[in-house]
Amino acid sequence: MTVTRFAPSPTGRLHVGNIRTALHNWLLARRGGGRFLLRIDDTDAARSREDHVEAIRADLAWLGLHPDGEERQSARFEVYEREFARLVAAGRVYRCYETAQELDLKRKVQLGRGLPPIYDRAALSLSEAEHDARAAAGERPHWRFLLDHESPIAWTDGIRGPQQFDPRQLSDPVVRRADGSWLYMLPSAIDDVAMGITDVLRGEDHVSNTASQLQMFTALGAEPPAFAHEALLTGSEGKLSKRLGSLGVEELRAAGVEPEALVALLARLGTADPVDPALDSAALAASFDLSRFGRAPARFDEAELHRLNAAVIHRLPHARVAAQLPPGMDEAGWNAIRPNLSRVAEAADWWQVVNGSVTAPDFTDEDRAYLAEAAEVLERVGADWAALTGALKDRTGRKGKALFLPLRQALTGHDHGPEMAALLPLIGRDAALDRLHAAGQ
Ligand code: GLU
Repeated sequence: MTVTRFAPSPTGRLHVGNIRTALHNWLLARRGGGRFLLRIDDTDAARSREDHVEAIRADLAWLGLHPDGEERQSARFEVYEREFARLVAAGRVYRCYETAQELDLKRKVQLGRGLPPIYDRAALSLSEAEHDARAAAGERPHWRFLLDHESPIAWTDGIRGPQQFDPRQLSDPVVRRADGSWLYMLPSAIDDVAMGITDVLRGEDHVSNTASQLQMFTALGAEPPAFAHEALLTGSEGKLSKRLGSLGVEELRAAGVEPEALVALLARLGTADPVDPALDSAALAASFDLSRFGRAPARFDEAELHRLNAAVIHRLPHARVAAQLPPGMDEAGWNAIRPNLSRVAEAADWWQVVNGSVTAPDFTDEDRAYLAEAAEVLERVGADWAALTGALKDRTGRKGKALFLPLRQALTGHDHGPEMAALLPLIGRDAALDRLHAAGQ
């Protein structure tokens, strides 16, 4: 069974990039009838915030991405401690004391000599007496994971294909700080094992982490999950934009974007497959396929999202939007008005046109006479657009715009809008008569 996880750090709100990661993990799990876990990576107590945890849950719920379970790293420190002790005993983590400045200097020297800036493992040769002396002087070590230089690293990435890393070209990663706090890499690997994660799907900024983590899985005595790394998102201008880094559910929602539209777009973003407003999340899951994703940066185009959003809204059933509609707007009202909306909130304006008062433009004498005649006809045929315009056409010889536009203007106060055939019955005979009389005077 496929088990995936979405593992945000609650140091901020979700943005489009991590929403896409969450969605893809959800789709991957759903496709295989598997499980999708939300893992809150909150080992960094100083930067993690509870309101962000709640916002992440709320954002996922709004998107319809309901996790099958939730885990929190801050509740698992004992587990990390235990696994860490095993790695210490096995000599796979070691104590280091270099300051950030010292490390920086080492890197500069290496770069100056044309060498890759890799940690030189100087601390590995410290004797126990030297460690004791440092401890006596009040120094506390940070810890690095000892990469196995003899084991080449290779995996077949679900998106990037065969990947190879020479561990000699990587720095032994710091896994624990001097204050005892954890960096993300080791707890993540421990959790992926403990939670039975079968597939890790994340951004390509994690590719080199994966190389190190693969050796961590082995050191923990576990089989690694399958890994896939997605190309990063860029804005429509083709660059990693600042805007994308801050654009989240709150803002998109305020702009009238419906979750179905965001899901439909993000599910396909990074593939050459067409975005289809008709596909719901079950259909998107059924057709979700990592091999469709390319390595080129995926472009997120807000204008495309808004076009898609309109197409999605034109298909949304009344029951789905009822809570967002003005009081009294029933299914017939919604069905009449939705083809004209680019945001659900605009339904209120059209409902006002149906139920409230309208302000028609000033008509010419000729049009006023025509509208007075329309009132007479409507009194006879009722609120039936085809009957009304058919009779008026015969009586007045008007056609096209001259036939339709003054009626639309008098009945709605607008030059454009939803189909009159659907709108007129909603306005109703009495209100329509009043409006035509008022305009025909
Ligand atoms: N908390 C990590 C991040 O947000 C998780 C990465 C991962 O999916 O392994 O970058």
